[in-house]
Amino acid sequence: MRMNEARRQIAAYGRRMSADRLSTGTSGNLSIYDPAEGLMAISPSGMAYDAIAPEDVVVMDLEAHVVEGGRKPSSEWALHTAFYRAKPRARAVVHAHSMYCTAFAILGQPLRAVHYMIASAGTDVIPCAPYRTFGTVELAETAVEACGESDAVLLANHGLVACGADLERAYALACDMEFLAELQYRAMCIGDPNVLSHQQMAEVLERFQTYGQPKDDSPR
Ligand code: 13P
Ligand code: ZN
Repeated sequence: MRMNEARRQIAAYGRRMSADRLSTGTSGNLSIYDPAEGLMAISPSGMAYDAIAPEDVVVMDLEAHVVEGGRKPSSEWALHTAFYRAKPRARAVVHAHSMYCTAFAILGQPLRAVHYMIASAGTDVIPCAPYRTFGTVELAETAVEACGESDAVLLANHGLVACGADLERAYALACDMEFLAELQYRAMCIGDPNVLSHQQMAEVLERFQTYGQPKDDSPR
């Protein structure tokens, strides 16, 4: 099987997505991109995560040709390929309908710097892309355009997309964004949140370059 390790990770992280309540039912999808082969492994469409085995994961190229796999690929394959085209560092994409991110996406409101951890997306705001029908090229285009330099973006009346240098980091970013959205929601329930200034966030983003243990060559 091609992209064996990627298939295994997608099946495993799909289960986590359900367990961590980032997704309900069959909502959301995950992919991993191998630029050397020009291939993407992506979760199958409309399958419960606990039923997805590595062999159910579909391998396709960025032009939407299925290279290997008997299942229909995620309806959001264009969304995933758009991120790989637009963001050369991206090697994994996670799309989720998580509760708090989606609540702000329903309001059409971005996530703001109510907590410095927003810097894990590389920016001080997580924009919200305008509404487009799920599974369309139009959704993929508006999502990438609204996302800009950020590694995460909200999709109006739909959910969240997060990308990263590998699936572990893309998934961690999706979790961070959900945590941030919950904080923003809870703070708004009891008052008017203080939003960190651009200057304050510039300092955080600077510190993030050297935060934690020395990393490999990918910045995030
Ligand atoms: P798939 O099951 O086709 O991946 O679709 C789920 C989804 O979230 C669509 O936006
Ligand atoms: Zn979706």
